Amino acid sequence: MPEIAPITGHRVAFFGGSFDPPHAGHLTIARAAQQALKLDTILFAPVGTQPLKPLGSTASYEDRVAMTELAIAKEPDFCVSRVDAPKPGGAPNYTLDTLHVLRAHMAAGAELFCLMGADSLHGLRRWYHAAEIPFTAHLVVASRPGDNLNDLSMLLPQGVSLQSANPVHLGSGNVELLTYAVRNATGTTAPFYVLPGLHVDASATQIRASLHGGFGATPLLLPQVANYIVSHHLYTDG
Ligand code: ATP
Repeated sequence: MPEIAPITGHRVAFFGGSFDPPHAGHLTIARAAQQALKLDTILFAPVGTQPLKPLGSTASYEDRVAMTELAIAKEPDFCVSRVDAPKPGGAPNYTLDTLHVLRAHMAAGAELFCLMGADSLHGLRRWYHAAEIPFTAHLVVASRPGDNLNDLSMLLPQGVSLQSANPVHLGSGNVELLTYAVRNATGTTAPFYVLPGLHVDASATQIRASLHGGFGATPLLLPQVANYIVSHHLYTDG
């Protein structure tokens, strides 16, 4: 288990992903979530082994951490966390386990959120102990082109139901936020948030393909990340 420093702030979001490389989509949804939910801290956590990505990442974990550090360098409330560092033998990093580790490092009474894009919500039913995740951290789902959020009930893990069909429209800083409640079989409820107005057309897969094809850096990459990619010869082979 990596060394985890105590986590400051009372409203803390875990933002897991491959960050292979980090791009404008990641930053846009994190900024929107921070504004809408008044988050104190967002922990960008590159993953060692994503259980549902059998081919793994292209860049090494250390390169992904370094690029993520560069991408968030100007964002005072974002930080990179090694909570999802590679495990011995390449064992999978399960989000539920990670959320429990984070909770153990947070102050009593602090709230934990889990930020993800719409494509991740579409896969959530297949995650390890998925039904426990919305009750371990409040889910915050950002819209993304190609993955509609019209029927949320169908996307929630089995045993989790949407309690409020009519969401409350809230949010601060001009960011639209829908607030629902979810409920499990024991009657426990939790808030469940959607950021419906983002639709940032950016993906690491597209960016890797562009770099591999020799088309150079795209505007979706921060210049400092693009420079790192060039100087470390990433995403050119394979
Ligand atoms: P890849 O194309 O390699 O699968 P990705 O662009 O989806 O990568 P990840 O690092 O895997 O990036 O994503 C981490 C999290 O950020 C996921 O929950 C994903 O849904 C979300 N995310 C990434 N890009 C966007 C985007 N443009 N809009 C909304 N969510 C996004």
